[in-house]
Amino acid sequence: MSIDVSGLTKRFGDFVALDDVTVSLPTGQLTALLGPSGGGKSTLLRIIAGLDTADAGSVSIEGVDATRLPPQKRNVGFVFQHYAVFKHLSVARNVAFGLEIRKRPKAEVAERVDELLKLVHLSQFAHRLPSQLSGGQRQRMALARALAVEPKVLLLDEPFGALDAKVRKELREWLRRLHDEVHVTTVFVTHDQEEALEVADEIVVINEGRVEQVGTPDALYDEPANDFVMSFLGDVTSLGGATLRPHDIEIATAPHLPGSVEGEVSRLLRIGFEVRASVLTVDGDDVTVVLTRTHARSLGIEEGGTVWLTPSAGAVVVPRMKAVG
Ligand code: ATP
Repeated sequence: MSIDVSGLTKRFGDFVALDDVTVSLPTGQLTALLGPSGGGKSTLLRIIAGLDTADAGSVSIEGVDATRLPPQKRNVGFVFQHYAVFKHLSVARNVAFGLEIRKRPKAEVAERVDELLKLVHLSQFAHRLPSQLSGGQRQRMALARALAVEPKVLLLDEPFGALDAKVRKELREWLRRLHDEVHVTTVFVTHDQEEALEVADEIVVINEGRVEQVGTPDALYDEPANDFVMSFLGDVTSLGGATLRPHDIEIATAPHLPGSVEGEVSRLLRIGFEVRASVLTVDGDDVTVVLTRTHARSLGIEEGGTVWLTPSAGAVVVPRMKAVG
């Protein structure tokens, strides 16, 4: 285990930002801390980095108790959303910075910077100033700079948060490939479920200072521990006191499936190849059902029509417990 966090509690005044958090983040993997805003993700990352201290609990990195170690002794590299670059230094000098202050030999620094710029595909921009790079290129430079000192652990706090959707998507694919090449234990904070599902080996879902679930993207999607996790990782609706995905509901124009619930189609919304049907059931549920346009057409579903709903075979169904904030 690379990073073991045990019994971490952090209060800001009366407010409990982390409530007895225990979690292990495995060596060599790309782990996402995922959850809604204010849930405690950044606080956890900052405590792992040593930028903040917990009121109780411990942090161990690669078997070494780091709870009281200053950040520079933890062998971690970090990148934040609004990355502070040295504006007057070239891209290459920014990347070299950590090595230069460690007084590494010039030739070694030059070689390492070359190698890193190649890795982040910025070789041709080595002599530019950061202001002459795009936002995405600047974040890649920030990653190269964090990697320069060969940290055991790389901590990224919403590293692509400030960028537009297209660049974000490119960068996260790129981060995944980079991680496959360098295998440094990486932990990144995101509130974007798609980003976590697409990039991470393992996801830690954090809400209101607590860990809701830890697992692979598939495990979380297919076997959510509760309806909070389920709703955070994709669209949900409710039918008969249970939470399930809108595409996991069979819709029929006759009651031929046992246990199906009758309802009336209150609205049909066509979005691309999908149709979203809102159905008001006789039990008072307002259910959303998603089906393909072709399927909806072949069934002849229309607004005001009567339909019958049943969970599809193999649907993930979780009892409704918590309200999602
Ligand atoms: P976001 O996605 O919005 O960054 P987050 O999950 O990273 O959210 P944190 O930044 O860890 O959340 O904050 C957790 C809670 O602790 C929030 O309610 C926040 O207001 C509070 N908090 C964080 N830092 C401080 C501080 N220095 N003083 C007081 N409260 C703080």
